[in-house]
Amino acid sequence: MIDAHIHLDWYQPNELQELIHTLKIDGMITVASDFKSCQRAWQLAQTYPFVYATFGWHPEQALPAAQEINHILEAIEQKSQDIAAIGEVGLPYYTKLKNPSLDTAPYHAVLEQFVQAAKKYDLPIVLHAVYEDASVVCDLLEKYQIKRAHFHWFKGDSTTINRMIGNQYMISVTPDCWYEAEIQSLIKQYPLELIMAETDGPWSFKGPFQNQMTHPNMILEAGKKIAEIKQLTVQTVQEQLTRNTIDFYGLNDRN
Ligand SMILES: [Zn+2]
Repeated sequence: MIDAHIHLDWYQPNELQELIHTLKIDGMITVASDFKSCQRAWQLAQTYPFVYATFGWHPEQALPAAQEINHILEAIEQKSQDIAAIGEVGLPYYTKLKNPSLDTAPYHAVLEQFVQAAKKYDLPIVLHAVYEDASVVCDLLEKYQIKRAHFHWFKGDSTTINRMIGNQYMISVTPDCWYEAEIQSLIKQYPLELIMAETDGPWSFKGPFQNQMTHPNMILEAGKKIAEIKQLTVQTVQEQLTRNTIDFYGLNDRN
């Protein structure tokens, strides 16, 4: 199986070593959160053949200087043949919740630049867009006729879910599917062919994963829960999730 979304560069060096040496899955998509993170993701992908890098700017942070975004866009241009996708990009849902007066217009403008880059270089895009933000992002993706979109750790209403299924957008499920009813219901509604598994590590989980370092192996547990909800065998689900991730990110065309 492949962890479809992890921030490998956010682990401490000792944690990273432990993670690599105890890995029971086949690969990971490590997403970037700023320019420095793009460089780190690139280094990790060069070091470990089972790590695939994406370049982007995470929306849940204060806006950077325009130069920062330009550096990332330049890096995407230079490595467009070698990176797996553009991401993590999106809209600042949780920052806005904490600070309702936040002006999100500049965040929309930054996201639109990344969507344009995804179109220009024909790259998949990894999105952080939940609840009301998801439909706004759907508008943007439809405007540019973007086909390969991955809404990581997606949460949202039925109307948006149906729109995303109609557009064949991918989602990914984290280990919180063990204890979040909202995610369990999403798994029931969403076609298995459009689902991947992720940890968003080092983000930590509750329930059976309480007080554990988030390890990419935890997607095996997510796979088991998805199998239970979909009433399929674990093997069938693991194979399908893996195929989905390989096909969506074009990993077979890489080394
Ligand atoms: Zn993330």
